[in-house]
Amino acid sequence: MNTDWRRILLRHLLALIGGGLLLGFISDAYGWSFALCLALYLGWLLRDLLRLRRWLESADAQAEVPEARGLWEDLFDRIYHLQRRNRQARERLQAVIDRAQESTGALRDAVIMLDSGGNLEWWNPAAETLLGLKTRQDGGQPVGNLVRHPRFKEYFEQEQHTDPLEIPSPINEDLRLQFLITRYGNGERLMLVRDVTRVHQLEQMRKDFVANVSHELRTPLTVIAGYLETLLDNDPGTSPRWRRAMQQMQEQAGRMQNLLNDLLLLARLEATDYPSDNQPVAVEPMLQSIRTDALALSGERGHRVQLDMEVGLRLKGSEAELRSAFSNLVFNAVKYTPAGGDVRIRWWSDAQGAHLAVADSGVGIEAKHLPRLTERFYRVDSSRALSTGGTGLGLAIVKHVLLRHRGKLEIASVPGKGSVFTCHFAPAQVVPLSVGALSAAED
Ligand code: ADP
Repeated sequence: MNTDWRRILLRHLLALIGGGLLLGFISDAYGWSFALCLALYLGWLLRDLLRLRRWLESADAQAEVPEARGLWEDLFDRIYHLQRRNRQARERLQAVIDRAQESTGALRDAVIMLDSGGNLEWWNPAAETLLGLKTRQDGGQPVGNLVRHPRFKEYFEQEQHTDPLEIPSPINEDLRLQFLITRYGNGERLMLVRDVTRVHQLEQMRKDFVANVSHELRTPLTVIAGYLETLLDNDPGTSPRWRRAMQQMQEQAGRMQNLLNDLLLLARLEATDYPSDNQPVAVEPMLQSIRTDALALSGERGHRVQLDMEVGLRLKGSEAELRSAFSNLVFNAVKYTPAGGDVRIRWWSDAQGAHLAVADSGVGIEAKHLPRLTERFYRVDSSRALSTGGTGLGLAIVKHVLLRHRGKLEIASVPGKGSVFTCHFAPAQVVPLSVGALSAAED
């Protein structure tokens, strides 16, 4: 191609010089002749340049390539082919986009694309039904303006979205939606929203059933346990065999009562997302009293229970729920540590928030059990659990209480050496020391 160009240019130059020489020879004014030839050549070039401009302006409408000669013909041809290739690539790309939009449009789940600032960029029709987005008004709006649930705000601001979030739809309280956010590109986010109302209703039915049965069983059990106690207290004449039977019945009735209480507590914890009594809780005195109870539980087994606490550190939340979670951990440490063992409770704060660690020198837990420990009724060793009188719900309660207090449970254990159960609370749950000290002074 280059040689073509060079040849054409050479031809033009020769024609220009030839023309100039010829005119100069005829008119005997070589300077003017060359100037005239150059002007003519320039005019010819300008004419084709203008044609090119006009054609480029109308090229989108697929106008015919203008007629040209020499250099310009080649230039027009090249631009024409470039444009055709671009147009074809654009059409192919558009077809892919159309197909992707068509398939997401057919989805029943909402798909929403957000830019790096969290503003709405694109969404499918299901997003309009589930979240009430409106094509015209809502484009470019921050997603937080449309989904105003406080838990969504918290979830959206998280660095990583490992677990999905379940909240009611902003346009219909009866619709239960599951949100899952994935980050991609330069901080853009893809949000998938699914209608999980049916699953939620089934789950709710299960919870209601357990709560109702537990509630209904409570009264007859209280009567049975009460009569057994009266009989044991007031009838010294009963034969030792019957007495032992009644004692066992009383023990088992006690276990059933504990089980029902734990089931009802779990049902209450599951009923709402956050505790209703969200107050600054003084953890120090609570841990002191749990320690006293733990020593009583240990009794003759003589465990050493050591407390190590940061002074004045308070936690936002429900005192009753936190007491229940912390005492479950401490009592477990006593239950699963042989006589004379050590239990160490540590309560401290750092940049990551507040932490409570309960370490024991007990039997420990094999690594394969750790991920399942917080499941209801999951027991490492059911024969041992029976002898310790546990309900199998203790750690499930701990997990739920922590979830409601923006906390997480971490379990580390070495079989035969002991275990450490650590509760980590987010900084947002920690009451700043000045506020804590102030309300302590007011108390
Ligand atoms: P349980 O009422 O049976 O103690 P939990 O939910 O409190 O139920 O605990 C579940 C299981 O985890 C227990 O059965 C026990 O095997 C194990 N476990 C809990 N805490 C400890 C601990 N500190 N040391 C060893 N094992 C423990």
